Amino acid sequence: MKRTLIGLASGLALLLAGCNGGGTNAASPDEWPYYGQDQREQRFSQVDLINRSSVGKLGLAWSAEVDSDRGQEATPLMVDGIVYVSTAWSLVYAFDAASGKQLWVYDPQTPRDSLISACCDAINRGVAVHDGKVYVGTLDGRLVAIDAKTGKLAWQVNTFEGAPSTMRYTITGAPRLVKDKIVIGNGGAEMGVRGFVTAYDAASGKLAWRFYLTPNPQGKPDGAASDDVLKAKAYATWGDGEWRNSGGGGTAWDAMTYDPEANLFYIGAGNGGPFDYQVRSGGKGDNLFLSSIVAVDPDTGQYRWHYQTTPSDSWDYTATQQIMTATLTINGKQRDVLMQAPKNGYFYVLDRKTGELLSAKPFAPVTWSTGIDMKTGRPNFVPNVHYQDGPAILQPGPFGAHSWQAMSFSPRTGLVYIPVQFTTGAYQKLVKFQHRPVGQNAGINIPEFPEDQLPKILAATTGQLLAWDPVAQKARWSVPKRWFVNGGTLATAGDLVFQGDMDGVLSAYDAYNGKLLWSFKAGQSIIAPPISYRINGEQYVAVMAGFGGAGALVGKIVPNQPRSNGRLLVFKLGGNATLPQTAAAATPAPIDATGLSSTGNADLGMAEYDRTCGVCHGANASVAYTADLRRSNALRNAELWKSIVIDGALKDQGMVAFGKILTPQDAENIRAYVIRQAKKGAAAPGAAAGKK
Ligand code: CA
Repeated sequence: MKRTLIGLASGLALLLAGCNGGGTNAASPDEWPYYGQDQREQRFSQVDLINRSSVGKLGLAWSAEVDSDRGQEATPLMVDGIVYVSTAWSLVYAFDAASGKQLWVYDPQTPRDSLISACCDAINRGVAVHDGKVYVGTLDGRLVAIDAKTGKLAWQVNTFEGAPSTMRYTITGAPRLVKDKIVIGNGGAEMGVRGFVTAYDAASGKLAWRFYLTPNPQGKPDGAASDDVLKAKAYATWGDGEWRNSGGGGTAWDAMTYDPEANLFYIGAGNGGPFDYQVRSGGKGDNLFLSSIVAVDPDTGQYRWHYQTTPSDSWDYTATQQIMTATLTINGKQRDVLMQAPKNGYFYVLDRKTGELLSAKPFAPVTWSTGIDMKTGRPNFVPNVHYQDGPAILQPGPFGAHSWQAMSFSPRTGLVYIPVQFTTGAYQKLVKFQHRPVGQNAGINIPEFPEDQLPKILAATTGQLLAWDPVAQKARWSVPKRWFVNGGTLATAGDLVFQGDMDGVLSAYDAYNGKLLWSFKAGQSIIAPPISYRINGEQYVAVMAGFGGAGALVGKIVPNQPRSNGRLLVFKLGGNATLPQTAAAATPAPIDATGLSSTGNADLGMAEYDRTCGVCHGANASVAYTADLRRSNALRNAELWKSIVIDGALKDQGMVAFGKILTPQDAENIRAYVIRQAKKGAAAPGAAAGKK
């Protein structure tokens, strides 16, 4: 009965929001109806039953295992007593929010070989819920609407329709509800794509508008909302270069925020593709709208303003990190602002109605620039920042000082809680860039760090939970973290900040001073952000657990835990459920490589391995996340190896056919190299990578 009443109350709140034409930020305080709780994306729960006094009694209420041991990055949503969460491979689950009973699961049958166009695992960051439907973007580019009650397909559209088929897009980000439309972006800047977002009618799936974030490579109009502004502002900021083949990048793979007060929709645009500005654009121009926040009219998609965080991006400094709106008191005046802590390491505060830069200060070590010129809004670059006069070692690196892991804001403390990443990048230009139809087209060499600097750089590659004062632009407190990748954060009216970490611990900190007040060992990495909701008079905290994502694939993080299926973990005061054991994936035994031989050239194989295989299988053929090739039985047999590498025998497991870019001789050279590595000793998986 109680539940019905609460459901009714929250239904009314949503209805009232709907009556205003969406012209309010109000979200039911007991629910988590939007990706960022309300449309401001502050990730603040107004429920305070779990607080600094009571958090010690927090325990597991229920948990649910999902059908994938790939990375789990999703924010669950809770609407009308039901938790909806997406998982790796873009599946969607629905659970009773109080009991944890699974109500349905929807599998969009994402082709496993679509993984080849994904930089950073088969992950999915979340769903949108509106008017009886649940919306998810799939890795292979569909926007799928699911009936929220039955879990059955309502409609689906191919969001890549109209984009060149030669460009290899993916979707990992959550769709956003904007009035009566659902907007979805895409990723793939490293593969060679041209970023865009598309708005669809939420009821029917009919396309409403599209906005491209880089100019049309042929210089033609697209028949899109972006046509006029690209012509007026963007074309002149590009020189001649590879962007005409690759599309230039600028993908909107995560952050998008609807602002009902300003009637604007903010899009975060990604990095340049290829990375190297000389290759991409002949070393000319700012390359709009790479690494920019672009504000458009939510009804038409027409341009309103933009702010470019990183002109001439050459470092993977995306501005796709969360865009949070708020009203802050700055110099005694109420200012309607948006806040962003993008990869480049600066915390930006902008007037969200005009795009005027109000302040920008580094929240982590920044060596690529010496500050932001407040007159022009532009960074002051250091010499050789574009690495044309030799390699450049810069902070942050391509992982950024902050990535998709959500930050949160407490209006009570006035602080933003940022999962900070201390990273360094080594950038070096390619001798010659050649666009490839499959695989990476980042267009730089990732050189090894110099031997003498390596220990220092590795030691500095850690993380931090940072409480940042956005008005003073100053750190207030911080908690060090062992790994540079950790989970997103949740702030609550109980004056707590929740964060999970790579070591598999979910912690609650005092929002005022960072004191650790509670923790729970999940037994598997947590990189997703927690949420909170109230039902039947009890407050819950929920978070997805599961190792994977960019840190695992490219970052070579190997936490000391068995690999197992992802789980949704849900906590409440007095919760006493036990966490079931999950089956850990078996690690194949080392094979005896002593008698193995190959006619291939191991040195050529090493170069091809680095270019094509290393991104998933790890530097030096040594990573635990995907198959450790040194332990692969296929290593024993040249024909079997070729059938996998060239013909795609394992494509249903995500190992696609490379016949388009590799010859059988290339494959054999790679086999020769991996045999050489196996003979060096098939150490424990990951031993050669990552940290001790
Ligand atoms: Ca990127």
